[in-house]
Amino acid sequence: MGTNGAGNTLSVAIIGAGPAGYYTAEALTKGDNNVYVDIIDKLPTPFGLIRAGVAPDHQSIKMVSKRYTATNGRDNVRFVGNMALGRDITMAELKDLYDVVVLATGAPKDRPLGIEGEDLRGVHGSGAFVGWYNSHPDFTDLNPDLRVASVAVIGNGNVAVDVARILAKTAEEMADTDLAPYANEKIQASPIKDIYILGRRGPLEAAFTPKELTELNRLENCVALVDAGQLPDDSIDETLSGAAKKNMAGLRAMTSNKPSDKPVRLHIKFFRRPMALMGDSTVCGLRLEETRVEEGRCVGTGRTEILPAGLVVPCIGYRASPIEDVPFDEGRGIYVSDEGRIDEQLYCVGWARRGPTGTIGTNKPDGIGIAAKILEEVTPAGKRGRAGLDAIAEERGVHIVTFADWKKIDAAEMAAAVNGAPRVKFADVDDMVSAAEVSDHTD
Ligand code: NAP
Repeated sequence: MGTNGAGNTLSVAIIGAGPAGYYTAEALTKGDNNVYVDIIDKLPTPFGLIRAGVAPDHQSIKMVSKRYTATNGRDNVRFVGNMALGRDITMAELKDLYDVVVLATGAPKDRPLGIEGEDLRGVHGSGAFVGWYNSHPDFTDLNPDLRVASVAVIGNGNVAVDVARILAKTAEEMADTDLAPYANEKIQASPIKDIYILGRRGPLEAAFTPKELTELNRLENCVALVDAGQLPDDSIDETLSGAAKKNMAGLRAMTSNKPSDKPVRLHIKFFRRPMALMGDSTVCGLRLEETRVEEGRCVGTGRTEILPAGLVVPCIGYRASPIEDVPFDEGRGIYVSDEGRIDEQLYCVGWARRGPTGTIGTNKPDGIGIAAKILEEVTPAGKRGRAGLDAIAEERGVHIVTFADWKKIDAAEMAAAVNGAPRVKFADVDDMVSAAEVSDHTD
């Protein structure tokens, strides 16, 4: 039983400043809990997927970062940016300094397709591709070749919808977004004429949500095409859940569109599973197998076809990054835990705990749950915490970026914006650190 009584403060290091990390910090430090939290992130910028995963044209979703900013305003919460577990500090050191370490590191690795040709040039997993157009410093150099006529986006989730939409939107449609300028330039110069969203199962099993799907039918320059023959008869609608019913309505509305309606075509195709990616060194197409769905499962029919594509973006889910000495479930790509408890000092939360599912809001109950578990199970042991972390950073020349520093980065990004864009993001860590170093009146 935890004894978070006065004078005995529980020190917590949360690794990862995304939604799962912030909701956990919020729950841990609420009321008069005697807890302090350091939220440590390898990037100098907070908010994880809110900044680098949420689509640049979905700015309203990013407003949730205001809530995380408020949490960071608490005296007992600190953002420690630009410090990486495994690079600047080890897990053993963190456990030595803090009572508890919480992995809120998300699932930053692309799940592999596991088929021939996956390593060909022109094949980019959605984690890398989305990171690239969202100015994530790890993916700035991806440099995808968009001088292609046809793109295959694999998967039927919201990420596939995001990727297809960002490739299809015009410069005007993207003007009020924070799409990376280098990505905008390439996308607008691209001769892409056909974009395919490929589902291995059918429309009833699709994971995308109605709001995201219907956006695809309102694009300026791109027409969404669905083969009516791939949709179930509408007599099935009364048996469907609200979301599936709305998805069916959205898909049916697309069946009357014609390829000639707009210059770019977005083909939403179901019952096709990728068998191989083809090409010598660069991808030029996919071999797809036609499928059917039996009791929810995807079953091959043996009939195959070739789909030409010069760019392939598998959007098929993500995996956590293995960490030395932390048990890892290779199959599921998550840390092995008992409902978030890995060992007596180590916990995980969010996608790192349950895999890449749910919305941003799903992380709230997850954070509340893990905070309650920690407060129940861990007894403060008078660890050095913050002071010890700062001493290690100093000794190793790690340039910690604080939340006040982030606000300077934030201000510089917003000041660089033109034409209604909310900001122009820095894509380089050194540039972020330099912006954080600029002195202002509050220094
Ligand atoms: P997802 O929703 O799990 O969709 C993954 C898709 O990939 C599924 O259609 C899946 O098909 C398919 N897939 C998996 N393995 C495959 C394979 N080997 N070959 C072909 N297809 C394969 O994942 P996501 O799109 O990456 O999204 C992750 C989470 O973030 C989701 O919860 C999503 O809703 C959320 N998100 C939300 C928004 C938003 O709200 N605007 C935006 C982006 C992401 P099966 O179903 O057949 O496995």
